[in-house]
Amino acid sequence: MRKLKLATVWLDGCSGCHMSLLDTDERIVTLLQHVDIVYSPLVDAKVFPDDVDIALIEGAVSTDEDVVKLKKVRSRTKILIALGDCAVTGNVPAMRNTCGAGPCLNRAYKELAELHPQIPSESLPRLLDKVIPIHETVAVDLHIPGCPPPADAIFHALYELVLRKQPDVKHLTRFGR
Ligand code: SF4
Repeated sequence: MRKLKLATVWLDGCSGCHMSLLDTDERIVTLLQHVDIVYSPLVDAKVFPDDVDIALIEGAVSTDEDVVKLKKVRSRTKILIALGDCAVTGNVPAMRNTCGAGPCLNRAYKELAELHPQIPSESLPRLLDKVIPIHETVAVDLHIPGCPPPADAIFHALYELVLRKQPDVKHLTRFGR
């Protein structure tokens, strides 16, 4: 069987889901016999390639840049996986939805600033008014909940896909754990 192309993407999350991927420990060596990591914060790839087999997406959609990136990833990926509660529900980043982007920026950059209070306007992506889970922007093929998802669930999902099976992670996951 040919090796699958695996990508991992970091949107608005804390990187804990990527840490959980690394918590698969020595099993990552087993995975790497069957997959090539072609794009990820874990490797030095700058461009999301064409024809990716599996993409793990950590984090919620919080900015206009996230929307563009996620749509590009979807268009170039066969199996797109929402990895972790932020990607699945919005979770921690969505806590700002109670007040909206404007008041959040005011609080962070003006009210709490000790020097030069101003909201940055250059070289930063624009915050969406509402943080959303990734399935509200693109179609998702598999959800792996958890904060972070357990390493066992991530390995199980990826290895089932390596075996060309449909993964079922319900028995290995729970929201908020
Ligand atoms: S789901 Fe939890 S561990 Fe993963 S990015 Fe969100 S806050 Fe971090």
